[in-house]
Amino acid sequence: MASSTTPSSTIATTANRYTITAALPYTNGPIHIGHLAGVYVPADIYARYQRLQDKDVAFICGSDEHGVAITLKAKKEGISPQEVVDKYHSIIKKSFEEFGISFDNYSRTSAKIHHDTASEFFKKLYNDGKFIEETTEQLYDEEAQQFLADRFVVGTCPKCGNEEAYGDQCENCGTSLNATDLINPKSVISGNKPVLRETKHWFLPLNEYEEFLKDWILINHKKDWKTNVYGQCKSWIDDGLRPRAVTRDLDWGIPVPIKDAKGKVLYVWFDAPIGYISSTKEWAAREGKNWEDYWKDEETKLLHFIGKDNIVFHCIIFPSMLSAEGSYILPNNVPANEFLNLEGNKISTSKNWAVWLHEYLEDFPNQQDVLRYVLTANAPETKDNDFTWADFQARNNNELVAIFGNFINRVMVLTDKYYEGIVPEPAEFSEVDEQLLKELAVYPDVIASSLERYRFREAQAEMMNLARLGNKYLADEEPWKTIKTDEERTKTIMYVALQISAALAVLSEPFLPFTSEKLKNMLNFQDLQHKPTWSSLSLLSPPSGEMPLGRGGHKIGKAELLFSKIEDEQVEAQLNKLKKTKMDNSANSQENNSSEESKVSPQKETIQYDDFAKLDMRVGTIIEAEKMPKADKLLVLKIDTGLDVRTVVSGIAQSFTAEEVIGKKVTVLVNLAPRKLRGVESQGMILMTEDANGKLVFMNPDSTGVDNGAMIN
Ligand SMILES: [Zn+2]
Repeated sequence: MASSTTPSSTIATTANRYTITAALPYTNGPIHIGHLAGVYVPADIYARYQRLQDKDVAFICGSDEHGVAITLKAKKEGISPQEVVDKYHSIIKKSFEEFGISFDNYSRTSAKIHHDTASEFFKKLYNDGKFIEETTEQLYDEEAQQFLADRFVVGTCPKCGNEEAYGDQCENCGTSLNATDLINPKSVISGNKPVLRETKHWFLPLNEYEEFLKDWILINHKKDWKTNVYGQCKSWIDDGLRPRAVTRDLDWGIPVPIKDAKGKVLYVWFDAPIGYISSTKEWAAREGKNWEDYWKDEETKLLHFIGKDNIVFHCIIFPSMLSAEGSYILPNNVPANEFLNLEGNKISTSKNWAVWLHEYLEDFPNQQDVLRYVLTANAPETKDNDFTWADFQARNNNELVAIFGNFINRVMVLTDKYYEGIVPEPAEFSEVDEQLLKELAVYPDVIASSLERYRFREAQAEMMNLARLGNKYLADEEPWKTIKTDEERTKTIMYVALQISAALAVLSEPFLPFTSEKLKNMLNFQDLQHKPTWSSLSLLSPPSGEMPLGRGGHKIGKAELLFSKIEDEQVEAQLNKLKKTKMDNSANSQENNSSEESKVSPQKETIQYDDFAKLDMRVGTIIEAEKMPKADKLLVLKIDTGLDVRTVVSGIAQSFTAEEVIGKKVTVLVNLAPRKLRGVESQGMILMTEDANGKLVFMNPDSTGVDNGAMIN
């Protein structure tokens, strides 16, 4: 969609060479479905698709093994940081292989080639005078005798008020922070309030890159970047950028490669994206390629697949680094996804609220494609999305089994039964046949067009529509009936259905690689003289021209089951697992609470009846509820108080979803002075208590016969 006014280097829709990177997973834990849905499945679909277009693809990833969180994990487990990263590097790498994530290279940032590459990169910028050297006051933990940055310190986010923001970023609102920005900072190591102490660091003056970023993103990529990505970038640039330290006082990482920097390492977010370059170098050396073609040639299209929490690093910081270095190309696009939730709650590693890939495979062996399919169908492309086991079951049973699997199985079984597995020669095509074959020839371009625009859900839905079309064709034409009356007609029907099956084997490959492979074997692709490819399918000139399985006579194999039904008990088992996690979590939090404070709070000071009489409390009913955007704890409620319908903002969102409180009878303090919470005026307060597990409980009348507006006295 390049227009004459836009530079072609920024919005080239196709290229011949692609460097596709997927966010380097952080090696402090295994991989869960949120990672897969947000980054690795879409990146893999895209890489596979471009390979099917005969493009020169380098699909690059590796483990991110530096940074504070690794050293914290090591401290907690009483092992060395190296042991932590070795353990998770192999677990993560195995998960990717098992789910068919087809990286050309999977490296790690502890590799020598990476240390060398990152050091050289730093030195080049240092020698070119691109850094500011500054002695500043940083947070210091006197007990642990250590400077605190990034994840070593938590405190209140100055932007949204989240009390658990980290020293590098607030995970609630996504703001990128410096540790000294936090309100009420606390050391994660000792729990103490840190002091300020002087230390010298090197800063990349991001403010000097504002003009460059404005031109490059806000002007040149206004049309082709996703609105969520563009919007985040715009808000950072509009807020004004500040110099950012690229070094840290830490003993785990890449030593700052200059004199006078003892005890300092490169900031993990400086070295990690360079990991894409080192991983490409490692691959190129092995494959006899020139890595610079993939990073320095203007004709190469560089794409970063990431989750939304990484946008600032990939769109602001890394491009500024690349631009400072001077010889690299910039990313053509950064199609970041939003987050995937699990059964209505945010996925959390620390709370074990996740579906871990290795556990999934234990419960659903050889069903990788089912998870890939469901995660793509629900991909959080434009907003946060929810994974539920009920939806997982429904999509498997109603789509993969009932449509795709059923169609292929019928084609295979009937071909075997009627023609001993040999593709029959067609007789006369009906109008329906001709229409269908013409439609078939359009699918490769339709799917490609969605993929080129990073619309993976849409692309996969189109692929499934082709299966749907085939399934409907068989149901309408009923070859199992015509076989008794019209042999020639039956041959034509089966011929058409077989061609659709072959097209599906090719077009499903980016989404369902294991299924595609199986189907190609079933259809005996290896014996075809002209193997169907994505581009040959889009060049089909049906019905008389070249067809994917030839003009008849090709021998296919036996039917194998592609998908199997997922039973209610399997879904229940998964839900029970999550229920148990929830109970464990609340038991833990109760344990923590009881050790810190007594269970029953002491009685407050005595008041007079007049004090009590000032409180106007009424029975009301919640008639509407919705989650306050960007606030974990708040629901915005509309309450019928009998007096009026009013808005109350209530901090109950961690105990209840909006849907489950609608219709609830509640007790409302109606004459509390209104106050604004996040810009919404709250006109009253709902009375709540807590159960033994710390879950909030509504105080409400024990009879349903009480009307709204009834007074409590
Ligand atoms: Zn925040």
